[in-house]
Amino acid sequence: MACLQEGQFYQHLGTPTGIRVETTPTDTLHKILRDAELLDRSLLAPWQKIDATHTFLIPRISFTLRDSAVAKVPLNKADSAIRVLVQKWLYLPQRACTDIVYVPHRQGGANVPRLGDLCDVACITHAFRLLTCPDVSARTIAENALRGVVRRRIARDPTAADIATYLSGSLEGDFRRDGGDLSSLWSRARNATRRLGKRIGCRWVWSEARTELSVMLPRITAQGYTTVTPAARALLERLLKGTIRRHYTDALAKRPDQGKVFEVTSKQEASNHFLRAGNFTCFADWRFIHRARLNCVPLNGAIRHGTRDTRCRRCGYPLETLPHVLCGCTTHSEAWRRRHNAIQNRLVKALPPALGAVTVDSPIPGTNSRLRPDIVVTDEQAKTILLIDVTVPFENRMTAFRVAREKKLSKYSQLADNLQSRGYSVAVHALLVGALGAWDPENDAVLEACEVGPCYTGLMRRLMVSDAIRWSRDIYTEHITGHCQYNI
Ligand SMILES: [Zn+2]
Repeated sequence: MACLQEGQFYQHLGTPTGIRVETTPTDTLHKILRDAELLDRSLLAPWQKIDATHTFLIPRISFTLRDSAVAKVPLNKADSAIRVLVQKWLYLPQRACTDIVYVPHRQGGANVPRLGDLCDVACITHAFRLLTCPDVSARTIAENALRGVVRRRIARDPTAADIATYLSGSLEGDFRRDGGDLSSLWSRARNATRRLGKRIGCRWVWSEARTELSVMLPRITAQGYTTVTPAARALLERLLKGTIRRHYTDALAKRPDQGKVFEVTSKQEASNHFLRAGNFTCFADWRFIHRARLNCVPLNGAIRHGTRDTRCRRCGYPLETLPHVLCGCTTHSEAWRRRHNAIQNRLVKALPPALGAVTVDSPIPGTNSRLRPDIVVTDEQAKTILLIDVTVPFENRMTAFRVAREKKLSKYSQLADNLQSRGYSVAVHALLVGALGAWDPENDAVLEACEVGPCYTGLMRRLMVSDAIRWSRDIYTEHITGHCQYNI
């Protein structure tokens, strides 16, 4: 056995351990950053680099964070270095919001956790596990140690409620006084709860009725709070991480400019299916889509500083913005038509023949209406008619989608009444896919009405989303370069 002097250390499960040594796992951090640089220089696809960071690099330090007193400065530096790389792999400019890095894949982010958050979660979870340990002797040692720390802080014997207040990071009343705290797991858990509490609203609570210590945190999918009791101790880590991810998602959706599209695309996993493995997505689409969704494309109307001409370079419209280019600039009407038809044809191909006779983009015979619904499925025997109109609106928050759907439905209401008076049972549907690949959750009812099989439904959603993104990228590129991106 080696004899260690003061300041010397050995690596115990990744943590430098010894007398008076810095326990920050700097070696592990350096190796993670070195490997992230190597990943950056590798020939992997950008989504593979992100996946490798999330799967292989970050977990290396997760265990070590649990029991080490990790200094914040090296951890924050590592976080910044990783964030810069992930933003580069997403082809985002410097001014893009950084929350996107920490948002999960299913909501359209890179799903790379922040090391600082992981450290706080590990600290709170470790303290909670010790205090609720089923082994009585381990639990008693932990409780006594914590009681001693709180006693030093408030200079009296703490009650159980005082202990919860201490761990929540309170600086009120007795807890304001400086008790000459030494750094310990308990002081670290207190600091971590205070930091996270400010952002996500978690805190420790003591229940007199049940005589148990719990952690209270906001629910992930609904309003209100949930309490993690000792019986549910295994869930705390997952719930804390989920709440932090929701915090980033909410923060991004609330941004007045960069959150507009995100509010719509984060609603459905199908809108972000390509983030995990780049399915149905070419590199050019990948380079375009993230900056487009965050409204960071260099268009005349999107650059705020200076006295630049904000007019559209193709049609002279006063403000050249992405919604104008993708859904408003009539120079691209042919490409819009093709984008619309690509989505429409996916559905036409999937319609089962038993549903009835299908007509595409033609007036309904026997009516005097000039309307040409995109898809009409008529079953003369059962006397049923299914009208489906496909539309590609811009994702200007959920309201734009609601308005687009209502407009489509009201457009065909008179025609539907007319057909109903002739004895048909009529159903009118609108299928909405955003110009930047947002799948409207209400579309699922349309696919159900069309009796598309459950296996193909999932695939079709993803294909339609990717079609919209590919065409919008072509329209944008043509707008900037003047070169047509498709075969005429
Ligand atoms: Zn224009």
